[in-house]
Amino acid sequence: MTLLIDRYQRPIDYLRVSITDRCDLRCIYCTPLGGSPKLDHDDILSYEEFLHLIQVAVDMGITKVRLTGGEPLVRKGVTDFCSRLAALPGLQSLSLTTNGVMLEELAQDVYNAGIRRINISLDTLQPQKFLRITRRDEFQRVWRGIESAENVGFSPIKINVVVMRGINDDEILDLAKLTLDRSYHIRFIEFMGFNNDSEWVNQHYVSADHILNSLQTLAPLEQITAQHTNGPARHFRWPDAKGVVGIISPISHHFCPSCNRIRLTADGKLRNCLFSDQEVDIKSPLRQGATDADLSQILRASIDNKPEKHCMQSDVFRKCQNRPMVAIGG
Ligand code: SAM
Repeated sequence: MTLLIDRYQRPIDYLRVSITDRCDLRCIYCTPLGGSPKLDHDDILSYEEFLHLIQVAVDMGITKVRLTGGEPLVRKGVTDFCSRLAALPGLQSLSLTTNGVMLEELAQDVYNAGIRRINISLDTLQPQKFLRITRRDEFQRVWRGIESAENVGFSPIKINVVVMRGINDDEILDLAKLTLDRSYHIRFIEFMGFNNDSEWVNQHYVSADHILNSLQTLAPLEQITAQHTNGPARHFRWPDAKGVVGIISPISHHFCPSCNRIRLTADGKLRNCLFSDQEVDIKSPLRQGATDADLSQILRASIDNKPEKHCMQSDVFRKCQNRPMVAIGG
């Protein structure tokens, strides 16, 4: 098996692919008020093009692919695409991040397509607050979607919660308590200020330490190591709980030294760091008939330029947030 190593000796084996910039929610931390400019249909890679690029990446040593968006489940034909992707030789893990709105209808098809790992975003258990955060009244539908995913056999169900002070930080315990009698992984993510104004960001940012302290008010948590730690989350469990609590702290304890990922946007740009606006266009060469060797060189160059670490505080990164999260894919 080929190993892709960057210049800081990090193995790169994970590609996050945003298959659309369209989303059926408008989360306040992800989509600017008034929406973000939509890509033209022709600018979005076709499924054939995604398959081609992903096969090139897999041949180079990528073994894990996660589909994201926008909202990946709103793109027509997504489950057929997943089946074709799951069959790519050399791809060992295919997963999906979704807001859950379409899961009630699609969970079975997604499962049948060969996807076994699914992350669902849900920041609150309160319908009114859900409406405030996502600007859409879809809480019940998402909840039914989560239940459908569980019923068709996704396990564990991983729920991503972006924590924001004064908005949903009062629900940290309620959300985490779901792990007491369900085998869910509830993963709290530090809010990252992208295109929100800095005052709003400072007001709403909650550190991972604060999240952890809030959780410990119920009972001491034990940290879990070993097989669960394959990724940026630190995992914890309450004694006798069926599920797991995860903490993802891109800001306060950044995990750049073990970052193993690159990203491909819906319009065919490679991004080597979530926080940097360095993008490499791979769509144009692909459409101009580049060979697989050429495409693989473009991927290699993007990996070679992967920064050692992000620094949200530095000027470079602060002025580099050229896309809202909805157009990157998280
Ligand atoms: N629509 C899908 C979803 O909701 O999961 C996939 C795309 S979404 C951009 C991917 C992930 O990024 C979600 O878990 C979302 O909560 C997270 N995310 C988006 N904006 C964020 C921000 N500003 N800070 C932290 N996480 C964010």
